Amino acid sequence: MGLLGSLFDYERRRSKALAAGRVVPDSSRCVQCGICSFNCPLGIDVRAHAWRGEPVNGGHCITCGECVARCPRGVLRFEQIPHSLERILSNTF
Ligand code: SF4
Ligand code: SF4
Repeated sequence: MGLLGSLFDYERRRSKALAAGRVVPDSSRCVQCGICSFNCPLGIDVRAHAWRGEPVNGGHCITCGECVARCPRGVLRFEQIPHSLERILSNTF
């Protein structure tokens, strides 16, 4: 595999690894401002997840990080789903 092929392969594995993460809220800090939901490019109601204290799971979230970056209260963080990142990146060049 040439350099370009290796880079594409690395990027594919990196994207899969990011997709294996999820956004986790600390509901005790959330003021329900809705900035997270407003800025989600997929239209996910992140505020509702924060209200319930539930991680954003499922196939719609692309783990772009917009909600995490925009929350003025630091409510949201990324959490890797255990072992998936390690498994996916185990054969990184
Ligand atoms: S942006 Fe932060 S504080 Fe505002 S609703 Fe979303 S999680 Fe809560
Ligand atoms: S990480 Fe991106 S896609 Fe996922 S909920 Fe947050 S803003 Fe939406």
